[in-house]
Amino acid sequence: MAKAKGCTHIETDRCKGCGLCVVVCPLELLTLDEKTINIKGYLPAISKDKTQCKGCGFCAMMCPDSVITVMRTSNIKRVSHA
Ligand code: SF4
Ligand code: SF4
Repeated sequence: MAKAKGCTHIETDRCKGCGLCVVVCPLELLTLDEKTINIKGYLPAISKDKTQCKGCGFCAMMCPDSVITVMRTSNIKRVSHA
């Protein structure tokens, strides 16, 4: 069975650091980057590990400024019949 996979793109310069996406991610993959201040003066959201994203889209749905894009793919396991 194909396992859902995804990848997030966050427009960090448009992020207002509200943290809603951080709270909603079921895998706790998102955080506010405490080492960066964006052009708006906020700590932007970043992904801690893009490889673990399952593409559920909750973060994008929750973001009030629509700065997150989620691309969804499938990781299809191949079985060899050698
Ligand atoms: S798409 Fe889902 S799993 Fe991926 S970062 Fe967003 S909330 Fe987390
Ligand atoms: S929900 Fe949107 S604006 Fe808020 S921290 Fe996440 S990416 Fe930034």
